[in-house]
This record gives sequence, structure tokens and C-alpha cells, in this order.
Amino acid sequence: MEDLPSMTVSQRDQFLVLNDVFRIYSDFDASDIATQIFTVEIQRDKQLDYLMNGLRHLGPSFSSLDANRPWICYWILHSIALLGESVDDELENNTIDFLGRCQGSDGGYGGGPGQSLLVRVHDMGEMDVRACYLAISIASILNILDDELTQGLGDYILSCQTYEGGIGGEPGSEAHAGNTYCGLATMALITEVDRLNLDSLMNWIVHQQGVERGFQGRTNKLVDGCYTFWQAAPCVLLQRLYSAHDLVPEGGFRDKPGRPRDFYHTCYCLSGLSVAQHAWSKDKDTPPLNSDILGSYANHLEQVHLLHNVVMDRYNKAIEFFHRAV
Ligand SMILES: [Zn+2]
Repeated sequence: MEDLPSMTVSQRDQFLVLNDVFRIYSDFDASDIATQIFTVEIQRDKQLDYLMNGLRHLGPSFSSLDANRPWICYWILHSIALLGESVDDELENNTIDFLGRCQGSDGGYGGGPGQSLLVRVHDMGEMDVRACYLAISIASILNILDDELTQGLGDYILSCQTYEGGIGGEPGSEAHAGNTYCGLATMALITEVDRLNLDSLMNWIVHQQGVERGFQGRTNKLVDGCYTFWQAAPCVLLQRLYSAHDLVPEGGFRDKPGRPRDFYHTCYCLSGLSVAQHAWSKDKDTPPLNSDILGSYANHLEQVHLLHNVVMDRYNKAIEFFHRAV
């Protein structure tokens, strides 16, 4: 970029992404309808092959994610559920067995069998908005949410909303999409959402969308496919309160054009797409209209619960199980 010496690294990368994305858009506009529909087809078989293989075996390149293995299970199983499919009994039992071996003697889960508790969120460990959300989301589904658990929590989340309107990881931190989702969802789950400045929160989110239509996670950062969930879910949540080219031909989704596919972005790109497809559904049981779905209706994905990001029927089964009369 010799001719653009004043650009920062992020600005240069964003410039390159814009070039890639606009080239894809113009190729798309120039093609006939049949090609357009084929281009944006999710190709379920290839997605499922990619996901099922990942659940059975991960190659050496995943060694850097060795402390994230339960999260990888979620990315893959949730992606499969979004596609309206499920794993067979053997794979399900193997996954349950694996997760069981990640549980420590005090009840918490580590990043893999024999590892200490997951990341640094534990007793005497890190404290941030993400950790608040994890605890409240799980407690809510398990029906153990009580006043003791929520005491002071709303004040803490409130102290993390920044002058920009988004929510940072902890007081004084920069507003960030993932933490904004976690903070807003937590406040909704503990019924204190009205305490946030929702106008400035919405204002911040809509200004994170770039001209290429992708969302960035923080002001002046690169756009990224996973933020279609972290930013779009709060938009639809707020909407309820008030009233594609991340696809990879061999299956899977990626951060942005030119990057390799991975399970994390497959999970959150599909989740964001589901949120967008169901954004205008009148209620939970109404399927989206044809016009709400990009490409053919075969791209239709299962609806997610906006506060927990699990598909609705899995959520309903958990609620039925944990909230039944004892
Ligand atoms: Zn990402």
C-alpha cells in the first residue's frame, strides 16, 4: 500500500475486505437468477459433513484451541441444530461422555479432560460481563436463578455501558459487540433491561455496520461474520422490546472472504443468519416469509432463543426438564 502511507493496519485490511466484498457483490449482480440462488445456497450436506467430521475428529491445527473443547462441541452441535438436524445416538453419547470428563470435582467444567476450570472465569478468577452472562444464562435454563445470584448484578452491567452506547467487558473498557450482547441479554434475563440507555445502545450498534453491510465488533475495527450474531441479536431483541458471502463452497463459514472456515464462525454466522431470517416473524411460532430469506427457502434455518442462542425446541426441552414440578 505504498500509495496510501497514512493508513493504519486495520484501515488497510478493511480497504482490502471492501474490495473483496464489492467484487463479490458486483459478480452477484451481474449473474442470472439461477446462479444467484446457487451462489447463496447454504448447501446443507456439505455443512453437515464438515460439522459431523469435526465432532468425531479434530486435526493437529486445533491444538491451540485445546482449552476450548467444550465450546467447540457447542459451536458444532448448535450449527447442526440450526440446520434442523441432530447427531446419531452414538455420537451424542460420546459427546456427553467427553463433556462429563471435562467436569471437575467441584462441579465446574474445564477446557478439556483433566484441565483446570474453564478459562479464568471461576471462584476468585476473572470477573466481567461475559462471565455474568454465562452464569445467568445457565442458571435461568436450570431454574436456579434467585435473588442472591442477581444481587448487584444490574448495577455492575450498568457500570459497563460506555459513552458510545455499547457495553464493555468491565467498567472503563471499550464497548464491544460480544459484551454488548452478553450485557443486554443478562439485563433482559434479570428483568432490569430498562435501566440501560437503550437508545444509545441501539445507536452504537447501527453505527457498527459498514458500507459492505458487515458488522464490526468495536469502533474502527474490521468487519467479521460472527458479529452478524453478536450485533444483530441485540437489534432484534431491542426491536421486540419496543414493539453471504461468508459461505465456503466445501461447507462451513468464515470470518470474511479469503479467510479459512472454522467451527466458531460457522456457529455464529449461521446464528446471525437465523436471527435475520426470523427478525420479522410476528411471534415465535410463525415461520419467516419467503422475502425474509436470502436465496431459496431451502436456506431456512431453525429459530434461536435470542437470550441463550440455542434453537427453540432444544430450549423448550431444557425448560420442560428443569422447570417441571418436583
Ligand atoms: Zn469473528
